Amino acid sequence: MNGLFFHDTPPSRWGREPGARRPATREAAAADGRGWLFELWDAEGDAIRTEARALGLRLEFGGHHLSALVPRERFAEQPEWFPLRRGRRDGRFNLCTSSAGARAELRANAARFFARFAGADVYHLWADDLRGGGWCECGGCVRLSPSDQALRAANAAAEVLGGMAPGARLAHLAYHDTLARPGKVRPLENVDALWAPRARCYAHAIDDPGCQRNREHLQELERLIAWFGGPERVRVFEYYSDSILFKWMAPPHLEVVPADLRAYGRLGVRGVQDLAVTPRPWWGPTWHAWWFARCAREGGGNPETALSAFCGAAFGDAAEAFAAAFRELETACRLLLERGELEPRRGYDVLDYGDTPREGLRALAGRARDALNHFGAAARALPLGVGGEALAQTEEFAPTVAAGMHLAERVLAWDAALHGDREGSASHLALARLHLRALTDWYHAHASPAFGNLGEGMLDAARRRMDEIAALAGLTAG
Ligand SMILES: [Zn+2]
Ligand SMILES: [Zn+2]
Repeated sequence: MNGLFFHDTPPSRWGREPGARRPATREAAAADGRGWLFELWDAEGDAIRTEARALGLRLEFGGHHLSALVPRERFAEQPEWFPLRRGRRDGRFNLCTSSAGARAELRANAARFFARFAGADVYHLWADDLRGGGWCECGGCVRLSPSDQALRAANAAAEVLGGMAPGARLAHLAYHDTLARPGKVRPLENVDALWAPRARCYAHAIDDPGCQRNREHLQELERLIAWFGGPERVRVFEYYSDSILFKWMAPPHLEVVPADLRAYGRLGVRGVQDLAVTPRPWWGPTWHAWWFARCAREGGGNPETALSAFCGAAFGDAAEAFAAAFRELETACRLLLERGELEPRRGYDVLDYGDTPREGLRALAGRARDALNHFGAAARALPLGVGGEALAQTEEFAPTVAAGMHLAERVLAWDAALHGDREGSASHLALARLHLRALTDWYHAHASPAFGNLGEGMLDAARRRMDEIAALAGLTAG
């Protein structure tokens, strides 16, 4: 590891009272809904900077902060600062980068941001976290793609950064509707691209020729590298340790991580990062983070050798039992991560599978059935009566197994409901609710209240989804 990125998500709030305290309960954290990294940085930033310098770590700071730099409260008096959408100014997201006033406001507030978080090597002031629909259609913007508009905003902030911190870099985020390379706007000298392929397939390596989704993603990366003038100007932002994307699970990614890192290396990309946003704590030795770090350092790796080494070091006598459990989890997770042509439901996340094409959902239901067997086998492989790291790892497997089985049963319940199989849907829903209860209990026992700003909403969404399926099947929600 040679860098540390303080990813402020959900974004902290500007202008809290000095000494404001983080909410003390899960419910209050959920109602606040925002991050508290600003306050943490105020308290500990100096020490972190000093330590990072001593260890030679590159420091990065930021997140989806762009729209906070053009305050929404200004909409009533300055509507032209905000995107034109379907003929009307819309103050919800991003900004109109053709508006000189909006750019001036962005520059002034970017300067405040850089001053508050002085000393970082890379800054991230990303656009709003949307799959699409947040950019401007005014006369000055309409010919610019979302990627061009986002890069124009990044350039405006980078101009300010160049004056305040020569040598620091600003990231242009290639993500969702800005994943494609820009086509008109060129990056300033201190702007690098950060390629975040969130919608890629994690059942297969990024260069797997049999995975169309990943083939398309890799082509986008190659185009982005060309636009930025070389791989040293592009970094990859991977999701291996992201428990939002993976719906509380921590897939081992035994095969995908080393294969990906070899593929990125072949393109000349030297910077690959591992995002770890999560509604829950990591409990026990974090295989996925260790595996990523090892593969990053060595440019790939052999999963079996590494798994033996990791389990031997962490679990002693129980090493082989844990290695077997990891292998079963790997199989189970990959079955659920394989989406084929299925797109997410409109407005939802990657693993909120849609039902188009219909045969795609049927095939997924078949894989979900297999996945249930492998999650069960993973749980059965675990040794009983262990302590120390082995006990912690058993506790760490629990949310992955519960969340994975919940997701699989939910898919089966939905598929049954769509086929008019009321009874089948009812029995899968009952099991889906049981597994979600197990996950909720684990979360209550292990997660501090701070996780409430992500965890509560994710649990609510899972319950709502089950109610929708129950309604579709003609069952009473419960
Ligand atoms: Zn515009
Ligand atoms: Zn795939």
